[in-house]
Amino acid sequence: MDLDPAPVAPARRVLRNLRALMAGGSAQLSDIAALVANQLETDVCSAYGLRAGEILELRATYGLHPAAIGRTRLRVGEGIVGLVAATGQPLNLADAPNHPAFAYRPETGEDAFAAMLAVPVRRGGRLLGVLTVQDRQPRHYTDIETELLETVAMLLTDLLAGSGSGSDAREDFAGSLPRQFEAATLSPGIVFGRVLVRGATLAPGRLLADDPAAELARIGAALDEMRAGLDSLIATQLPELERRGSQAPRDILAATREVAAGDGWLKRVTEAVHGGLTAEAAVHRVVNEFRARMRTIADPYLRERLADLEDLAGRLLSALTGEGEVLPDAAGAILFVRRLGPAQLLDWHARGIAGVVIEEGSAGGHAAIVARALGLPAAGGARGALDAAEAGDDAVLDADEGTLILRPDPGVRDAYERALSARATRNAAWAELRTAPSVTRDGVPFTLMMNAGLGLELDQLSATGAAGIGLFRTEIAMMARGSIPDVAEQAAIYARVLDAAGDRPVLFRTLDLGSDKLLPDSPRQEEENPAMGWRSLRVGLDRPALLRRQLRALLLAASGRPLSVMFPMVATLAEFRQARGLLFTEAARVRPAPAKLAVGAMLEVPALMWQLPELMAEADFVSIGTNDLMQFLFAADRGTPALADRYDFLSVPVLRLVKSAVAQAAQSGTSLSLCGEAAGRPLDAAVLLALGVTQLSMSASGLLAVKEALRAFDVGAFRSFLETLRRTAAAYSSLREPMAGWARDHGVAI
Ligand code: PEP
Ligand code: MG
Repeated sequence: MDLDPAPVAPARRVLRNLRALMAGGSAQLSDIAALVANQLETDVCSAYGLRAGEILELRATYGLHPAAIGRTRLRVGEGIVGLVAATGQPLNLADAPNHPAFAYRPETGEDAFAAMLAVPVRRGGRLLGVLTVQDRQPRHYTDIETELLETVAMLLTDLLAGSGSGSDAREDFAGSLPRQFEAATLSPGIVFGRVLVRGATLAPGRLLADDPAAELARIGAALDEMRAGLDSLIATQLPELERRGSQAPRDILAATREVAAGDGWLKRVTEAVHGGLTAEAAVHRVVNEFRARMRTIADPYLRERLADLEDLAGRLLSALTGEGEVLPDAAGAILFVRRLGPAQLLDWHARGIAGVVIEEGSAGGHAAIVARALGLPAAGGARGALDAAEAGDDAVLDADEGTLILRPDPGVRDAYERALSARATRNAAWAELRTAPSVTRDGVPFTLMMNAGLGLELDQLSATGAAGIGLFRTEIAMMARGSIPDVAEQAAIYARVLDAAGDRPVLFRTLDLGSDKLLPDSPRQEEENPAMGWRSLRVGLDRPALLRRQLRALLLAASGRPLSVMFPMVATLAEFRQARGLLFTEAARVRPAPAKLAVGAMLEVPALMWQLPELMAEADFVSIGTNDLMQFLFAADRGTPALADRYDFLSVPVLRLVKSAVAQAAQSGTSLSLCGEAAGRPLDAAVLLALGVTQLSMSASGLLAVKEALRAFDVGAFRSFLETLRRTAAAYSSLREPMAGWARDHGVAI
């Protein structure tokens, strides 16, 4: 790759002098302000730091009245400085006093100055202050001057805060404002902890370099690699953008193209390198600009796509820095990530995290399911939290209410501590529910089972009083250990589950790997739509040795006890028969034979709905997996946050489907249960019971809340209400509101 060798000498000179000044580690902000004014030949250079209460305070100046230092304060949004802080964008004004936002502060003596250039000071996307230069004569600052001031702003934060010696520098610019984010509940719970950010752009270690040619060569190779990745990403995303007819602001597309084509990106990186930055620092700086633009984008679809691009840029940076995975201390921390797979979550859980914020996570994703299984508080969404958070910040994650508070005030912490102790009282009350009969107010019995996948969840059986395990996800244990164990080891795992369950039934689901559930060392399939790809039972049938080993292990584990096996993602009767055939072949060889062998299928693929009569004639049970069923029914990826609330389980198509499955199960005498996440939501569970699904399996964390709600429920009265709703229901994409209204009016806590 050819890079423009033209040097930008003045920038290098300024940065070199700045480096010399900072080398001693004792440089004050005032020294830096003086140097910048001197080198840029401006009359004034000032630094404003952010204080609690969204206040910007003049911290150092060269050229304004020194008496104003510590006295001149502006709210974020007030004056030119406040405007730059609020928008995160530089302002370049030839005649600042006549700008509508100008706020005159007589103590500064700034009425003498016409021109002003102000840039935000950020670290990790978090605003720390504003840096300005001013001149008596009206003038427009050049692009090079603007970029230079931005680079100085970056160096100020990174060098001063990163050096560790000038701890007062952090004081100078520290913005420790609390920030609150709305988030989606992925797994309930409230937790306090130290923030651990992963996936944010790595801060460059070395900032200034003497040999631009060497830096450009390093960056050229890395950019080539990244550009190829971007090209293929854009090629797949642009047709979708056009199809949606999106009215995206021009700069969004400009940003995308710029990065994709490489020219703008390269030019800016090249300039920054010529200006004296290392390859890492130059990329870091351009990535920061890119992230700043991303923050202004409203369209969630585009934001996500751009977030993908940003992710690639972040990867480029870590490739450049060559930093291996040196994992920080995670014990008790709240992990902040953009995306997370279930295996990674298990990894972090093993390392002791107390909670997780997955910016692009949604409740149907497997990481969320694993979090619920682990009882680990988790939230999705919280857009911007990753950018705003810094390692070492404290946070309150209230995944129950969908709130994330960064750097909480002591008062907020106290309030949460009170809420937590109230919760402990409520949990104690719930504990009594464990042994209470599972029957509604009007005498309809129901069965609540729990979903599990890890040995450490098994004690939840007695903690919740679950009637059994309605879904044992066998792949979770494999993901936790990172590989598929041999038959004997698998048998030991399954035997422990059966031992813990005692007389209670366990429905073992065979390996459901693929899509987002990948073993760390499994080869990545290049698939356009992995959720609809070569996964789950499809893998088992194409690799029968793998499936047969698992079936043998299950039979050995049962060792004469009753055994229930269900197959995931069954799409055709033929697939079910083939899988059952493998099970029967193994069963004929294993002794002692199970006391009873029940074989079932998960109803996750809509096509199975039209094969239910034949399937139910052969299967002992069918379990509705609403997580996958919903995604295939509505053609809506369960892991895409933008779609998380778009289609509701409580809607006409889903309820009709469930009703039809219930009727067919009754006719054929087949046991029907439901084990998707919908079962763990009290209102959804009540609706299912009213439709005739009496056996529900859910995350242990939600079981007692569902039991409490169902016990307070009058199913007969609710059915009458559903009848009245039926006439108008088809017009609504969600029936949740009227149904929840009915529950509230009838005193059921939903
Ligand atoms: C489902 O799809 O509803 C289900 C229970 O399986 P999983 O969530 O493991 O895909
Ligand atoms: Mg599924």
